Amino acid sequence: MPVLAPTVPSSSNRREQVIWARLRLGHTHLTHRHLLFGEPPPYCKKCNVSLSVKHILCDCPHSNHLRSHQNKLEEMIKELSTSLTSVKHEQEYMAVRDRIHRGINESTNSRVVMWAFFEAVVLVTMTLGQVYYLKRFFEVRRVV
Ligand SMILES: [Zn+2]
Repeated sequence: MPVLAPTVPSSSNRREQVIWARLRLGHTHLTHRHLLFGEPPPYCKKCNVSLSVKHILCDCPHSNHLRSHQNKLEEMIKELSTSLTSVKHEQEYMAVRDRIHRGINESTNSRVVMWAFFEAVVLVTMTLGQVYYLKRFFEVRRVV
């Protein structure tokens, strides 16, 4: 037997809270108005049993199409929830990949900068060495 949620959904307004309370108590206008108007109690015309909230929601075979519709909706909601969870996992995976990729990029960038400095130092050193060598090469040597 289905059980109503123990608490009313927090998003519900006053009207919905009244409906929830009436369904939980099993006292609805449809099933209990005969008490107010002194009429005979209502019965399900198709099943020929006393009409109650439980009968309408759970037992009446003539409400099956409504219940199957609700089940279909629940199935769709579950499917949607599963899809949403997988999308969330995919996003978390992409965030991790992005973080790793960013780390690799920053490491490569700093290495390229260091290599450029090293190249500049080597270039300046070689230039100075060549200038020194050529200066000595063209130096006029005087015999003392
Ligand atoms: Zn019925």
